[in-house]
Amino acid sequence: MDFSCSWPYDWMQGDLFFQDCPFCDESSVLVVTEAEKMKLAREGFKTHVVMPCCHEKLTILQIDDDYVWADRPLRK
Ligand SMILES: [Zn+2]
Repeated sequence: MDFSCSWPYDWMQGDLFFQDCPFCDESSVLVVTEAEKMKLAREGFKTHVVMPCCHEKLTILQIDDDYVWADRPLRK
């Protein structure tokens, strides 16, 4: 997959935590997720989350230990 489509994240009590939003540059963004959706994402199933800061829809193709992988470039 294209590295430009990746974005670093951390887990915070089962939710996705981003140091910065890839869309609006808001800092410290916590995206509340469903555990089952995240489990499937880690297995490579496509899922969607909505950023709470700018309501931008992020399509996640996969989640690994360090990055979420989106269907479009997130890095400028
Ligand atoms: Zn945002």
